Amino acid sequence: MGLFPKRPPCPICGGKISWLLPPKIESEYICGPCYGKIDMEPDKANCLTMQGFQEYLIFYDQNQLLKDQFLISEKIDFGILDTKIIFDYQNNWFCMSKNPDKTVFEGKQLKSFTIKEDSAPLFEGSADGIHRYVSAVPERAMAMGPQIAQFLMNKQMARALDKLDDGKVNQTAPMQYFNVPEPFLAFNVELHFDHPYWTVIKCDMAGPRFDHTHPDVNDYIRSYQRSMEEIEKLVAGLKTVAFPDVPAQSIGQANGLGTPGAQAVHTTTASSVDAIGEIKKYKALMEEGVISQQEFDTKKRQLLGI
Ligand SMILES: [Zn+2]
Repeated sequence: MGLFPKRPPCPICGGKISWLLPPKIESEYICGPCYGKIDMEPDKANCLTMQGFQEYLIFYDQNQLLKDQFLISEKIDFGILDTKIIFDYQNNWFCMSKNPDKTVFEGKQLKSFTIKEDSAPLFEGSADGIHRYVSAVPERAMAMGPQIAQFLMNKQMARALDKLDDGKVNQTAPMQYFNVPEPFLAFNVELHFDHPYWTVIKCDMAGPRFDHTHPDVNDYIRSYQRSMEEIEKLVAGLKTVAFPDVPAQSIGQANGLGTPGAQAVHTTTASSVDAIGEIKKYKALMEEGVISQQEFDTKKRQLLGI
């Protein structure tokens, strides 16, 4: 006699039920391998009945045929936790995994998709067309130039003052980190389906981050462009499998984060005003003997961009 009551076999396959916290559907215990086949929206999985589960297993077996025939034409990375999407352009199928081991969707099951930068729309796609919005992110990153210059200067000034104390760089001085929020946090992707087990799949791709000790606008923009290339590949892939006949992208208006052009001009002005103010501050520091002539000259050249 064991310590635990003997459990009846799995009602689906007759297999052994795990000793430890076996999953249940309605009130019946299910074996791990059968339960592991469930790949559907959590809301639907949570209220699955035994009959519903048996119907799902028929769908699962049919979908297995698509998994077996899946030919990966393209693989796109777009998630922090190594989320991928793979496309099969011969069959017009796709699967949200790096191998066809999850539900394989047929392109026609995708009703629409949206990709946003936080809450600002970037792409919208459906049978009505693929719509692209102008992103304000590069511009907003550029507008952060003066803030970044200020941070780097403060950091350098702190070092200079520190040197003055005892002639050495104080290694124990607290590090300064650039912690101004980036122009946006993530590309939010939503796929809407016409499918018995999926209504919507949401996932995101983190936006670029500033280096916290050496922030640089150009690095940020380069990294943004690399992410954007992946997003464009994703859009092209979804269009190919789901909406092959709709016209090429139409361009929408700026997504409300700023007016292009005007802000860029404004940035340049703000930046040069800032530079002059900063040079004056450094000149005062030099006159007080806090920094040397050489340090002042270096700073001045940096600020003027010469
Ligand atoms: Zn089973």
